[in-house]
Amino acid sequence: MRFSKMLIPTLKEAPKDAVLPSHIYLVRGGFIYQVASGIYDFLPLGKRVLDKVRAIVKEELDDAGCQEVQLGFVTPADLWKKSGRYEKYGAELLRFEDRKGNEFVLGPTHEEMMVELAKQFVNSYKQLPMNLYQINLKFRDEARPRFGLMRGREFIMKDGYSFHADREDMVREFELMEATYRKIFTRMGLDFRVVEADSGAIGGEGSKEFMVLADSGEDTIVVCEGCDYAANIEAAKRRKPETDAEAPEADLNRFHTPGITTIEDLAKFFYVDPWYLIKAVAKKALYDEGKSEIVLFFLRGSDELQEVKATNAVGANELVDATEEELEAAGLVPGYMGPVELIRNVGALEGTPPFHEEKAHLNVRMVFDEGLKDAKNMICGANEKDYHLVGVDLTVLKDLEFADLAQTQEGDACIRCGGKLAYTKGIEVGHIFQLGTRYSEPLGATFLDRDGKAKPFVMGTYGIGVSRLLAAVIEQHHDERGSIWPVSVAPFEAVVIVGNVKDEAQKEAGEKIYERLAAEGVDVLLDDRTERFGFKMKDFELIGFPYAVVVGKKLSDGLVELVDRQSLEKRELPIDEAVTQLLEKVR
Ligand code: ATP
Ligand code: MG
Repeated sequence: MRFSKMLIPTLKEAPKDAVLPSHIYLVRGGFIYQVASGIYDFLPLGKRVLDKVRAIVKEELDDAGCQEVQLGFVTPADLWKKSGRYEKYGAELLRFEDRKGNEFVLGPTHEEMMVELAKQFVNSYKQLPMNLYQINLKFRDEARPRFGLMRGREFIMKDGYSFHADREDMVREFELMEATYRKIFTRMGLDFRVVEADSGAIGGEGSKEFMVLADSGEDTIVVCEGCDYAANIEAAKRRKPETDAEAPEADLNRFHTPGITTIEDLAKFFYVDPWYLIKAVAKKALYDEGKSEIVLFFLRGSDELQEVKATNAVGANELVDATEEELEAAGLVPGYMGPVELIRNVGALEGTPPFHEEKAHLNVRMVFDEGLKDAKNMICGANEKDYHLVGVDLTVLKDLEFADLAQTQEGDACIRCGGKLAYTKGIEVGHIFQLGTRYSEPLGATFLDRDGKAKPFVMGTYGIGVSRLLAAVIEQHHDERGSIWPVSVAPFEAVVIVGNVKDEAQKEAGEKIYERLAAEGVDVLLDDRTERFGFKMKDFELIGFPYAVVVGKKLSDGLVELVDRQSLEKRELPIDEAVTQLLEKVR
């Protein structure tokens, strides 16, 4: 390939909205072009990287026994209605009709479609297990598409789905996929962590994410300094925290706290550690069929609500902020909310103060964080303006709903080894998930088992953000001049730069080296443009080919330069030596 003939529109300026190095360099290096918000064209260099990423993914998956298919990008809405996701998926699902009025959605993921395929053609346990995957377009009408390929609306995903006769076999495949994904990301030169992830309503420990470590990552991950425990903050667990702080011992009583509405002010007012305060977070939980309810989540004042955990705890599709009007309609007093009404309703607490008896029954669901189990000597809102309750003992209350709601904090103790937990940032490039029968059951996808009985497939699902990977690789491999591609996914492994194409000898030597390298199987580009030498070097650094052979003035002494993009080290070598060393490096 010749640079002079290729469409590589490198740019001096970055797009105005680009803040991440990967976004800046992919655009400036002429890899991608933005057509609309979150929608990109891949130009020749971008396509070459994409194909290399794809090829690595395919090679490792095929090696692990998976089979590649390609499903329609436009998917019938009917399937989505059957699985219940037509509604649940929300605004990210792009719905439309064809000319006959048939409803479709652009596939954001393909569980429904793949289950439909298996339903048609996989009928017996003898055909199991089976793992089918595709590397294909996805469309999600993301609320905030940004960071270039990192969060697009149209993007390329590898999505795989496995079908099994039982759970045990599905878990075996899940582990095989974890090992396979590790190989894939290692081959791409990525520094990553496999973390425990949110499993949504399905729960359990059946979900892991592959996180590329990068400060620019949108995900916070919790890692243990003592062992290899790592989890997405949405799922991270900790040992139950303890405190040395002095408990505010008191008899149950109402206390005048005028204008004190925050945990911070309350802690100051009572000279007490937030540990002994009950924080109330009110949310409106949204369910299927337009149902909703106000939920009060209670935690220690020293903790924060983890919204994904909270959403799972009540089985909601989404939690949104409740308005003041909604809170008041539910009988709550913003700034002074507490479980006190519950205390009265349960009536289990002797000596409950007889105040505002007239108040209607609270119309809310209450969920307590596990950290509040056994909580005594607590202070909480009295559900009355300017009043709190002191001396609250939760242990005397029966039938409270407890769940893991609190966000794990830096410094907390690891659930596994007790070591210290810390935060770090990551980019999610892969996600594997033990699905069970979540889709096979509603879609009626069954097989005949050994005993002749029809059973729903037990499934796993496995995703890789193929186009996002281009961005993730650059986030880990760049400097202030541009990208630095690892050889395995570089658009070209090397470029031969002719310093001055008007110099016949340089031009001829450049062509020869280029042909030699190509004949040796190196993926090589010849920069034969008439541009100034300095301009071509700048492009080399910006685009980030791993190596360059520069044919310049020293050619008259039989010497060329071998340049390493990573270190920017330049070495003058005889032509043969330069070729030999380059071959060693790219192999
Ligand atoms: P995220 O939390 O980043 O929105 P997700 O959990 O919704 O991702 P999955 O449904 O698990 O994504 O999809 C599998 C993989 O597809 C993700 O691990 C990620 O690498 C990639 N991916 C998801 N959304 C996008 C997007 N908008 N643009 C590019 N890649 C994406
Ligand atoms: Mg995910």
